[in-house]
Amino acid sequence: MHTTTVQSSQANQDLLERFEAVRGCRHHFPLLRQRVNGKPLVYFDNAATSQKPQVVIDATLRYYEEENSNIHRGVHYLSERATQAYEGVRVKVQHLLNAAHQREIIFVRGTTEGINLVAYSYGRTIVGAGDEVLISAMEHHSNIVPWQILCEEKGAKLRVIPINDRGEIELADYEKLLTSRTKIVALTHVSNALGTINPVKTMVAMAHAHGIPVLLDGAQAVPHMKVDVRDLDCDFYVFSAHKAFGPTGVGILYGVTKLLDAMPPYQSGGDMIKSVTFEKTIYNDLPYKFEAGTPNIGGGIGMGAAIDYINEIDLASLAEYEHELLAYATRGVAEIPGLRIIGTAREKASVLSFVIDGIHPHDIGTILDDEGIAIRTGHHCAQPVMQRFGVPATARASFAFYNTKEEIDVFLAALHRVREVLA
Ligand code: PLP
Repeated sequence: MHTTTVQSSQANQDLLERFEAVRGCRHHFPLLRQRVNGKPLVYFDNAATSQKPQVVIDATLRYYEEENSNIHRGVHYLSERATQAYEGVRVKVQHLLNAAHQREIIFVRGTTEGINLVAYSYGRTIVGAGDEVLISAMEHHSNIVPWQILCEEKGAKLRVIPINDRGEIELADYEKLLTSRTKIVALTHVSNALGTINPVKTMVAMAHAHGIPVLLDGAQAVPHMKVDVRDLDCDFYVFSAHKAFGPTGVGILYGVTKLLDAMPPYQSGGDMIKSVTFEKTIYNDLPYKFEAGTPNIGGGIGMGAAIDYINEIDLASLAEYEHELLAYATRGVAEIPGLRIIGTAREKASVLSFVIDGIHPHDIGTILDDEGIAIRTGHHCAQPVMQRFGVPATARASFAFYNTKEEIDVFLAALHRVREVLA
């Protein structure tokens, strides 16, 4: 008994030390030092975009100051240097996701472009009249609309896996929707509106048992957890750098070679070709076949610095710390009369979506902004989720590892004031 107590207090001490190390990273983010409306900024809009550590800002700046040059085409020093730096990022992403090959890593503008690429290129070759595309009821618009357009064009049907009142997918409902008509499953790894972490590994295995490929939208997963595409065994995985401490305008589509090889180009022009005559164009090999035109080179290099940064922090401690923040905030908001949390899944990332009786979420957002607190209000590009829960909008606080319990206290006090002023 005594040994157990000693062990558990040692474990608590270890946890505190690891949390202290995570919290220590806050000073790497210069933007967090500012005041907004005369108050210290409390940034709880991380699901929309994360803040950037100084190393990412420096790497992007350094590219423009010292390396700026177009890639892949030049023989001169600067072009070779920029090409090396940019292609080096592809290797970093390969390792980050544990992809088997560099050629499976395609630079895109972000999650949205990655999904569009798959819907337009792969979707158009495999989906025909009477076929079905399966998504879930908690998708972001960027994982709904490209498939809807594809289905309309092909005379196919968009089927939707329902979610329960906690905001979880019931696997039995999912299983029933996997049929011989299903041509692809496109599913979010983590919901931006509810915070639900989906059991994607199981869901991929279930789809594969029917021979159906799976695309996973990792926009909200990569910033919070270790993602291993080979372990998940997914066919496509997409994410945006800007939500994972990198710059805007750059992201990644991972795809397995067999599928990418067979897919036609999505966009065409420079860089995606081997040779062009007026009669015929021979396309480039992977990954360049899908990378037409000059990419966001500075952004890509910034993403590389963000990946180096992520690799240096302990992702497991980070996830535990964020979970602790979520639990603390969840307990705190439970004391606010009339407040209802939207999204109470058993497995959740650090997203707290809520409504307060009789108060419009925009008004909550405005009053919090007066206090220097940045949250998001609205439908979070997930209108069907709002419809499912019968609300027009929610207020959403989303936490990153640089946030603190003290900030949550400020947020909770402000929410109590919102009730006093508006209810
Ligand atoms: N998917 C999810 C789950 C998201 O949260 C977002 C952005 O909020 C997107 C896709 C779209 O990402 P982006 O706008 O970076 O393309």
